[in-house]
Amino acid sequence: MSVLLSCLRRAGLLGLAFLLVACGAPQQTADSESGEPGLKVVTTFLPITLFTRAVAGDCAEVNALIPPSSSPHDFQAKPGDLASLREAQVLVKNGLEMESFLDKLVASAENPDLVVIDSSQGVTTIASQEEHDHNEADHAEEHGHGHGEVNPHIWLDPLRAVQQVETIRDGLVKADPSCAEGYRRNAEAYTEELKGLNTEIASQLKPFEGKTFVAFHDFAPYFAERYGLKAEYLVDVPEMNPSPADLQRVSEIVEQTQLRALLSEPQEGDRSFNALAKDLGVRISVFDPMETSSEQAALDPGTYFNVMRGNATNLRQAFSQ
Ligand SMILES: [Zn+2]
Repeated sequence: MSVLLSCLRRAGLLGLAFLLVACGAPQQTADSESGEPGLKVVTTFLPITLFTRAVAGDCAEVNALIPPSSSPHDFQAKPGDLASLREAQVLVKNGLEMESFLDKLVASAENPDLVVIDSSQGVTTIASQEEHDHNEADHAEEHGHGHGEVNPHIWLDPLRAVQQVETIRDGLVKADPSCAEGYRRNAEAYTEELKGLNTEIASQLKPFEGKTFVAFHDFAPYFAERYGLKAEYLVDVPEMNPSPADLQRVSEIVEQTQLRALLSEPQEGDRSFNALAKDLGVRISVFDPMETSSEQAALDPGTYFNVMRGNATNLRQAFSQ
């Protein structure tokens, strides 16, 4: 309404030709009201999309390659994904072989000017624990899923997330110096919030230091390390089915540690986990590793904080009576 009014007012000064041009325009350019963002950025999956959106603000157009409902662990690229990589100037990834499909896709996109930001650069990593009681056949299957030597779930530690955001900031500043100040300001605000979140979770989980929790897949070592906890898991990647040995191992952990709950994730594939919890007489709670989300949640950088607060609350409940 007010757009129309101001438009009519301006048109009154400048005449009918302006009215036709200017008043027809707002609807088409509604998403880029603050001016056309200069930089086209493609991200891979949820946390990377949230961090990049937070830093980009109005300076860049950010689009995710993997739909929020798909797990990055088993993502299959489509021909349409090539088009978005061809048009983009920047690609932001988590790194650490989380996006195992990516190298091939980037090569096929034939976009020699594409700047790739690896947000894991400089982050201290934890090796993948693949030495559980799996037999050789299981191992072959795991490697088929593209799990690397290093555990890639660094974003679940808020302070490693700070490093990721800073790396994304530096990459965007370099790719688009015209908006350098905006990228720096946005990153500063987001990293301050991440540090605040870390302090908050640390004090909430302090009473449970040294305790063990069991997650569905192997996503929690960075979170656990940050807060002095020990993370165990049922399977390496979410698409795997647990072997009898996996179930046995988790049963023993639950007995030894007197855990009150297993931490499921809001994703398909954990039916066996629910059955196991029932057998063991413990509750199922949720720890969301943020590998998937709704479309809506993927648009809001604040989703990271909402999900992590929920995770900390659920974990506290799992440790309590
Ligand atoms: Zn994962």
